[in-house]
Amino acid sequence: MQQAAPSASLPERARGVIPGGVNSGQRNVPGLTDLVITRAQGASFWDSDGRRYTDYHAAFGPPLLGHNDPDVVRAVAEAGGSLDLCGVGVTEGEVELAETLVELVPSMERVLLTSTGSEATFHALRVARAATGRRLVVKFQGCYHGWHDSVSLNVISAPDRVGHKDPISTGILPEVLDATLVLPFNDRDAVRAAFAEHGADIAAVILEPVPHNVGCLLPDQEFLVTLREECTRHGSVLVFDEVITGVRHGLGGWQEVAGIVPDLTTMGKAIANGYPIGAIGGRADLMDMFSSRPGAPVFFAGTYNGHPAVVAAALATLRKLHAEPVHEHVFRLGERVRTELPPVLASLGVPAVVTGYGSVFVTYFMDRLPHTYDDLLDNDTRMFVGYRRRMIDQGVFELPLNLKRSHFSYAHTDADVDRLIEVTEAAVRAQLAD
Ligand code: PMP
Repeated sequence: MQQAAPSASLPERARGVIPGGVNSGQRNVPGLTDLVITRAQGASFWDSDGRRYTDYHAAFGPPLLGHNDPDVVRAVAEAGGSLDLCGVGVTEGEVELAETLVELVPSMERVLLTSTGSEATFHALRVARAATGRRLVVKFQGCYHGWHDSVSLNVISAPDRVGHKDPISTGILPEVLDATLVLPFNDRDAVRAAFAEHGADIAAVILEPVPHNVGCLLPDQEFLVTLREECTRHGSVLVFDEVITGVRHGLGGWQEVAGIVPDLTTMGKAIANGYPIGAIGGRADLMDMFSSRPGAPVFFAGTYNGHPAVVAAALATLRKLHAEPVHEHVFRLGERVRTELPPVLASLGVPAVVTGYGSVFVTYFMDRLPHTYDDLLDNDTRMFVGYRRRMIDQGVFELPLNLKRSHFSYAHTDADVDRLIEVTEAAVRAQLAD
């Protein structure tokens, strides 16, 4: 048995028993696997040296209200005192949460809860294949939908891998990869051509309506309209993966912003402000195929689905989003960065654009706003990662991995924006001089 010496540091002990010392491939960030997090509150987290970081990484997106929001914490504590998981029947909270999501999200006639976004997208594709009796799934270069085989390809692809199958993992059956078609985002002609060639075999089209797993590509409205039209014409299931955009970009998600109703919607992350949740919802005829309904053929399960503490967190989150001007606040802070940072960067003579939507922002080092994944290949990766590393040294945390987005929460303030701009300027200046 391999064990670290008793005097070993926590990261050393971690590496002895946890592969790489962290619990996700997405936390395998060079230089940051030794970071020991001890506390998180509001817009900040702290490490074991007592250093505070203003957090724009936001755990990849869930804490829209900020870390440990007192209303969410109270709701979870109250739920935990009287109820935990029983694994039979239904609880009042589950019904209330489903009713709330059906009311908020245009496409949702029925909802099922999962514990993660990956489970939600997995079930969306399975039910689409079951309903259509078809094999193929269409996804887009740059979109991420979780870790399961059908979608584990072509997220952040190197230039020479774009246009080819680019799995993010080994161990996936080639026939599974064969059954996923990868198309360029925002390319209507590619969508029409794929449907012209394979329409009768396409079970589902899945997309992040705003691809935030590569920062932010804003969708052309006509692109989304084309997807809706082609799916309807060919009887394919249109899946909006709103795991990031749902709740964060508005209570009805991007489908409400765009006025386009997909057949199925997947959600997660910000619904429960950091507690593990996912949701799949949509057309009643598709959702009624899941085996939660007697005799229905599409197996659906999950020991922790609808966990009372998580449901309580979600209800408290959604209540607060309704009752307080959360979106107004985070949208205003996002807009401040998108308008105030570009002139500062321009004055340094560095090609840079600041984009995003609402609470989400990202600074790319390139000379134009990206519209397609191919455009993003022009982002200066060394600058993107380098300035963020320097910011972390100043206690401002944007994840130093290429193309990762940043987030505002309700707990961030105007003073945080001022400091963000100041620290960004200094970090970019230092990086340029390096
Ligand atoms: N879809 C999207 C758009 C995501 O961003 C993510 C997570 N980053 C997932 C699905 C998977 O969610 P989870 O990590 O909760 O499985």
